[in-house]
Amino acid sequence: MEKIKMTTPLVEMDGDEMTRILWKMIKENLLNPYIDLKTEYYDLGLEHRNETDDQVTIDSANATKKYKVAVKCATITPNAARMEEYDLKEMWKSPNGTIRAILDGTVFRAPIVVKGIEPCVKNWKKPITIARHAYGDVYKGTEMKIPKAGKVELVYTAEDGTQEKELVHVFDSPGIVQGMHNISKSIESFARSCFNYALDTKQDLWFATKDTISKKYDHTFKDIFQEIYDAEYDEKFKQAGIEYFYTLIDDAVARVMKSEGGYIWACKNYDGDVMSDMVSSAFGSLAMMTSVLVSPEGYYEYEAAHGTVQRHYYKHLKGEETSTNSVATIFAWSGALRKRGELDGNKELMEFADRLEKATIDTIESGSMTKDLALITTIENPTVLNSKEFIKAIAKRL
Ligand code: NAD
Repeated sequence: MEKIKMTTPLVEMDGDEMTRILWKMIKENLLNPYIDLKTEYYDLGLEHRNETDDQVTIDSANATKKYKVAVKCATITPNAARMEEYDLKEMWKSPNGTIRAILDGTVFRAPIVVKGIEPCVKNWKKPITIARHAYGDVYKGTEMKIPKAGKVELVYTAEDGTQEKELVHVFDSPGIVQGMHNISKSIESFARSCFNYALDTKQDLWFATKDTISKKYDHTFKDIFQEIYDAEYDEKFKQAGIEYFYTLIDDAVARVMKSEGGYIWACKNYDGDVMSDMVSSAFGSLAMMTSVLVSPEGYYEYEAAHGTVQRHYYKHLKGEETSTNSVATIFAWSGALRKRGELDGNKELMEFADRLEKATIDTIESGSMTKDLALITTIENPTVLNSKEFIKAIAKRL
């Protein structure tokens, strides 16, 4: 059999622990036998990040700007325990944060829907993709405890020294106060990433804020989305047969619960934080969530939404058997290969991505799965496979 050829490399970002083990198995069993895989390899494993003073993470993000498509394995974000475990020179920042800062993107998280792993919201038939604005609001808030009676004001001092003031509250007893901000430019790129991704995936886009209460702050989000939509996307959405839908956040939540899914839900930072966990747990499992970072310039970085599955890795190191779910990591690869194919006009590569996803879904739907899914499936007497057997079972179908 002749292998599928690639013209442009994918940026490959290797990672840590159990997902690093899965990464190798996926390449060996599901990719290399079928594709003349062309990647530019960056080892984002914690040891190598430490050796390169984290330069490798920056290099991999810059390579993504050059080639436009990356696929990333889960990586450790160092904390105190990891400092000791890996004898680190510094507590390196989260690679995802570093990459996002360089690419300036929005993260879209979507569940992989499989028969037999049923969402607890029974009318959810199609995936709900959450897009979270990853800048500002309460995450960059400044807070104060107010000890006793007094006045709190917002003060804006322009560069020429002129000032504008707004009264927050006149306290007659102790309380609390918070100031937060956002930047129009960041909201604009969030909006464009969402509109582009909706066109890319041919799904409606929903957006919601509390603009009736927050008449300047939230209303600005609403206005920026609407202005960009009218000026740049209205025509394209009509041609694609999709819709941009704005409503109040409380109305959105009610509609989401009653919907059948199949759209992108753009969320302000806090809403996205809360709603993405609700949606992923309702769809069944973190191990069945994919994640893609889309920049307004059209760079794409695909990954699994879960972490490095540390507990399984320690079992693996002790020589014990693991049953780690590789579905989201496989879909990170298929997503990246499909996008690569799309950008290069490589139909064979795109079709391979479809076949790989179908083989994975069919394997589960036929009753063969990893332990985490076996515990929640509605399929009777599922066959529980270990990490390697599951990937081999997919390879057999492929
Ligand atoms: P985790 O996602 O690795 O695990 C959370 C829980 O879900 C665990 O109980 C785990 O057993 C289960 N789980 C997750 N994925 C699974 C899979 N594929 N198969 C079976 N079970 C699965 O998160 P954590 O334990 O909080 O973090 C472990 C490490 O991962 C940390 O060092 C953290 O920094 C890192 N992390 C990385 C990313 C990323 O790179 N995007 C995201 C989250 C966490």
